[in-house]
Amino acid sequence: MASLSVIVPLLNERESIPELIDQLYLAMEEPELRTLFPDPFSFEIIMVDDGSTDGSNRVIEGLIDSRPELRLISFQRNFGKTAALSAGFMAATGEYLCTIDADLQDDPFAIKTLLKKLMEGYDLVSGWKQNRKDPLSKTLPSKLFNTVTRLFTGITIHDFNCGLKVYRSEVTRRLELHGDMHRYIPVMAEWMGFKITELPVAHRARQFGTTKYSSARFLPGLFDFLSVLFITRYLRRPMHFFGMAGLGSFLLGFAISLYVTLDKILLHKPVSNRPILFLGILLLILGVQLFSTGLLGEMLSTSASKGSSFTVRKTMNLTTGQAAAIGGAD
Ligand code: UDP
Ligand code: MG
Repeated sequence: MASLSVIVPLLNERESIPELIDQLYLAMEEPELRTLFPDPFSFEIIMVDDGSTDGSNRVIEGLIDSRPELRLISFQRNFGKTAALSAGFMAATGEYLCTIDADLQDDPFAIKTLLKKLMEGYDLVSGWKQNRKDPLSKTLPSKLFNTVTRLFTGITIHDFNCGLKVYRSEVTRRLELHGDMHRYIPVMAEWMGFKITELPVAHRARQFGTTKYSSARFLPGLFDFLSVLFITRYLRRPMHFFGMAGLGSFLLGFAISLYVTLDKILLHKPVSNRPILFLGILLLILGVQLFSTGLLGEMLSTSASKGSSFTVRKTMNLTTGQAAAIGGAD
């Protein structure tokens, strides 16, 4: 079992890899980092090749013999950064974990600073990129993403998607990620009751290769955002969402139908040839459907939670959101 596992998700980063590994080894040898851990300190660097087609994995294989701490997980095809991180989390043996991008944009020498903060009593410390060295087409959507996420989740960190993060292994063991959810790791961790914070870190310009994320990912990103909201806010109480939407739709449909009916009874207006009636009936049916979905969801989640067990890892004050998540509050 290692003291520290460094996980590096990578897709077509052939040119950056040798330099990154050199820098990571130097960072692991720094006395300031070593003093944070009891003796004997050991580390592993898990490179997760997310289906590269540029020979990245051959570069890593070429280095493995001379670097005993280096490991390689290779995907047959590209599954995305979230899947790469998940695989790394599963393979890691460290008590502490660190994730870092492979493109040399994150500074390996900042790992010790983040770990030092973690050991003050946090479960996850996320980097906060300073003077970001990316084009406006990246920094602007990212600013928007961070502001919206901060607003909706109430979590006050500035840079949810920084590649550089350190974790206690309890966090990564419990994270369940899919889609492109790596962007929301701090949100999920906070929701699970872990203590999170952020620390400013230097950012470097990309030297080799190109970014793997363009603004075309905006729509899938929006869907991920909605999934996260559902998971953290509505998953345990489906009735709160579907029930309300269903009730709203039903009441509107009912009001329209009543209006058409009263028109017929009191003013003798014909019911036929009135498109609004079509809308009324549609809303009525939709309302019943949504309400039933909520009811079913509620029944399912109640029976699922009967069989679930969880351990309280340390005394903590639950926020209202967290209490709601385990069914403790409205
Ligand atoms: N990456 C990955 N799989 C993907 C896309 C990206 O493993 O499908 C890796 C990539 O190689 C890099 C990190 O995730 O190590 C961050 O990606 P990138 O630098 O392209 O993102 P940016 O810094 O431009 O936001
Ligand atoms: Mg990058």
